Amino acid sequence: MSDILLEVKGLKKHFYAGKSLFKRARSVCKAVDNVSFKIHQGKTLGLVGESGCGKSTLGRCILRLIEPSAGEITISGQDITRMDARTLKAMRKEMQMIFQDPFASLSPRMTIHDILREPLDIHNIGTIAQREEKIAEVMHTVGLRPQALNRYPHEFSGGQRQRVGIARALVLEPKLIIADEPVSALDVSVQAQVLNLIAELQESRGISFLFIAHDLAVVQHTCDEVGVMYLGKIVERAPAEVLYRQPKHPYTQALLSAIPVPDPTHNTEHVPLIGDIPSPLNPPSGCAFHPRCQYATERCSREAPTLTQTQDEHWIACHLHPAS
Ligand code: SF4
Repeated sequence: MSDILLEVKGLKKHFYAGKSLFKRARSVCKAVDNVSFKIHQGKTLGLVGESGCGKSTLGRCILRLIEPSAGEITISGQDITRMDARTLKAMRKEMQMIFQDPFASLSPRMTIHDILREPLDIHNIGTIAQREEKIAEVMHTVGLRPQALNRYPHEFSGGQRQRVGIARALVLEPKLIIADEPVSALDVSVQAQVLNLIAELQESRGISFLFIAHDLAVVQHTCDEVGVMYLGKIVERAPAEVLYRQPKHPYTQALLSAIPVPDPTHNTEHVPLIGDIPSPLNPPSGCAFHPRCQYATERCSREAPTLTQTQDEHWIACHLHPAS
């Protein structure tokens, strides 16, 4: 039996802008463009890229919080892309989300108890006593005291609020959690605590994660595999230790070289990342990274590279690395 929990095939999410005075055709924003990957049970895929590369849109498409334009998403072998609302509601127990901004994602009018109780009530899980037991258990798991249950989100620090967000994701015992930049709004010291908590959950509960981040340093110790996204496409994907040791795509190399190294004698070549990410409404021709790539050739501006498997599990979309 396959241990693939999540499989995404050819996923697309295109947004259409209105016609302008000067343009007859509607502009298309290809926020997610033909993305495919798998996550095995108990494993974590990190999805990394600058703001605006489409990674959060992809996460929301997988949970069908927004509808994909094309492609297929299967969870535990069940295609959820075409599932009706009722079946999808039942399926949502299996997949939960941790949001970037814990304050915005928690209702300010509800106590922590009610925030944690709500999903159990919606899915009609267990007796009242079992629901209370579950709430106490997840509070303990995320390191919050039972007294906190009667308090409101604004009474907590950012790190504690994110623990509440994680507790809410855990209360339904999901198989998959999509963590959308779960630490980017937190101080560095608190980031480490929340990352450690997520690592413990992977270990102890065997939950699979799609961990979305804009910084390769954040996902380094948390992920089994890493995918790097640029303008709606995955440009490199590999097991984490391979990608950090031998990044092949110039964009991945630039992202990695921007990570500060604590040892000043450590000699890593700095690969500059020129300019900002282009507008997805008007992407560059050929390889979308070519205006920022120090290795770009004439071919790069003409022809888009396809994501190709070069070694065992190493996938790269770059003309410098043809299939082996
Ligand atoms: Fe750079 Fe060309 Fe590779 Fe794109 S295809 S990353 S522009 S070398």
